[in-house]
Amino acid sequence: MRIYISGLYSGPNPSPGVGVARSIRAGFPDATIVGVDYSQRSTGLHWPDFDEVWLQRPWNELDLEVYAAQIRSLIDGGAYWISGLDLEVRWLARTLPGARGVLSPPEDALRRVAKTSVTTATTPGFQLPERLLLRGSSQQEQYRFCRRHGWHVWLKGPYYEAHRVRSWEEFQARSASVAEMWSSDEGFLEAHVSGREESIALAAVTGELLNAVHLVKMETTPEGKTWAGRVEVVASDVLVQLRSIIKDLNWTGGAEIEYIKDADGRPWLLEWNPRFPAWIFGAHLAGHNLPGLLVSGATGAPLEHAATAATEFVRVVLELPRRAGFPLHVPPESWEGPTGGSKHPSGMPLLAQRLMTAKSSRASDIPIPVHGLEQHDLAGLAVDQLSTPMSIFLPSVADAGFGTQHDLMHRVSSEQFVVAVAYSIKTNPDPRLLALASRHGLWAEAISGCEVDAALRAGIPQEHVVFNGPSKEWASTAARVGTLFCDSVEELHALVSRCNKLPATVGVRLRPVNAVSRFGVSTEEVGAIHELVRLVRQLPEETALGVHWHMASSVAGTSWWWRSHEAMLEWCLALQDGTGRPVQCLDLGGGWQVEDWRDELCPRLERAVQTTREQLPALRVMLLEPGKALAEPSMMLAVRVLEVRAKNGHVGEVVIDGSIAELPQAHVYPHRVLRAIDGSWMALPPGEGRILGRLCMENDILGQRIALPRDIATGEVLLIADTGAYDASMSYTFGRG
Ligand SMILES: *Cc1c(COP(=O)(O)O)cnc(C)c1O
Repeated sequence: MRIYISGLYSGPNPSPGVGVARSIRAGFPDATIVGVDYSQRSTGLHWPDFDEVWLQRPWNELDLEVYAAQIRSLIDGGAYWISGLDLEVRWLARTLPGARGVLSPPEDALRRVAKTSVTTATTPGFQLPERLLLRGSSQQEQYRFCRRHGWHVWLKGPYYEAHRVRSWEEFQARSASVAEMWSSDEGFLEAHVSGREESIALAAVTGELLNAVHLVKMETTPEGKTWAGRVEVVASDVLVQLRSIIKDLNWTGGAEIEYIKDADGRPWLLEWNPRFPAWIFGAHLAGHNLPGLLVSGATGAPLEHAATAATEFVRVVLELPRRAGFPLHVPPESWEGPTGGSKHPSGMPLLAQRLMTAKSSRASDIPIPVHGLEQHDLAGLAVDQLSTPMSIFLPSVADAGFGTQHDLMHRVSSEQFVVAVAYSIKTNPDPRLLALASRHGLWAEAISGCEVDAALRAGIPQEHVVFNGPSKEWASTAARVGTLFCDSVEELHALVSRCNKLPATVGVRLRPVNAVSRFGVSTEEVGAIHELVRLVRQLPEETALGVHWHMASSVAGTSWWWRSHEAMLEWCLALQDGTGRPVQCLDLGGGWQVEDWRDELCPRLERAVQTTREQLPALRVMLLEPGKALAEPSMMLAVRVLEVRAKNGHVGEVVIDGSIAELPQAHVYPHRVLRAIDGSWMALPPGEGRILGRLCMENDILGQRIALPRDIATGEVLLIADTGAYDASMSYTFGRG
């Protein structure tokens, strides 16, 4: 009996070769076991159970046809091949279909359980976490997915790799590197599921399940790899299901189904690996020799009985003598360390490159129309006369945004109860936006005396000006606003003890539990809350009490925001109890992304007002302070193409005369890039191009993963959309001489 086992890397992210070899040796003491790998850095090739080692050239140098012929002749000679490398499994299925000695699954089964195509139909009994494939989805959709899940999301590569991404910038960088590494844009975003990590390992021959075990991970490495575990029998109902799945897939070989068991006991499928897991010898220790069963099932040879040593196992790090004939090399002096920085020394990225020679083409290269009002505002734009880079104001878009808030206020307010939208001036203090706020009856929210003046100048009445922020020179300005929120107990103390004319409403900003923020009175500090209660009691009778909180849902996620809102109501009740003063004004802050404001907040507002009033019957005013939700769509940045650069026969990059100085939020959220096509403006679809800024700065990249049209030319004007908020107000002069 001669058995080839591939995948010998035994670092912190190990391949299963060593564990498979140990299991086979235990089951068939006389078998000849040959270790196969593609890099001498795979330390498992020194493992003593390998009678021989067959070290190949790296995947990019191998002549795959010759190699396939060699494997075929080995198999024809009666040998067996157990692959421990996912992409090698794929290559074997494609190259040697139906070869009896190859103990891995057929191509069709692999396709059905691939990370990007597995469905609940293939895995009955499992839930699938919500996912979004990167190919074919726009950056706006990807951004929405992340926000909706409060950035509890993973970016997963098509075969290997999962990265937690916490911001748009991190996502952009990771998705570019994952696509590069795996020569594929088939990565996807996956919503995080909380729970316990478990898995099922199994062995099967031509659709017959031989055995399966259930692993509970007791200890994992920072990369999520098993470091200790408990092996249990698979529940009988799950086994019945598995049996029929395996039959349906006509599976041969090992497999590992990794999943999360949530608090309610539901299993959420993470992935289905087409090979044994690296901890597989742990199953043998528990009396289940799955690789042994696989070989016995395929060959008919009797298997040595596996005695149960223990149902729980741990892993340790071992030193081994180097195998004769496989000398080690002093690593190059690079900061990446001895493995060259690669977590995949068996060369999987190289094989991916060869398997994907022709990068699959895009689902759609069709430009995306812009909104009607945008089209309308841009209709008369004389691009030839623009002195780029230049900000373009969209009057109808801006007007519609503010006008909608007016309607909203009227719909949800009543005689006894006011719901007011206060435009956050700092987001963009452009007088055109303040004039619209004033015209449509919005309130204004200021964070400085100058902003208060700007609001008053725009015609917003004093009682509709809300004064916020950590630094407000209140002694001179408090008399000119209707509502003021203190950022600390110190500020409230100064106000009640020194200010002779208080605004009609005085409140305090509270910092939600678990929020990372420098603002507001911490709800986690008993001393601060105690002091707050004492000071509120000193407020004059005629002063209404307010509570304010502000945490950007665009960062923390909308579901987190709603939960915080509910928690804040509890704090209002506690404050009322402690002070004997009713909370009459509740300010929910801003921080909403445009779409979330429109699709998540506004539709739920009426209901939220109702439940809030039920809990706080004395409440008279509820405030919202959107900034970017109103300002962002109101402007675009016009830029000119200075240079067009080719890559693989396509337009790879363009250099434009704009930069992060005019687009400081370039990395914070995706911006649409518009181009005039036959007289109308269209957004460029997703693709592989990059838009580079004019500055001699590494991070001056204004757009990534955008399809750049073939006929784009020097001198052409592009519009970068959605720049009316902090892009406009935080832009700076840099690199202009
Ligand atoms: C900045 C700010 C806002 C507006 O935030 P956006 O993210 O622009 O919506 C609202 N309220 C307060 C207190 C702020 O500081």
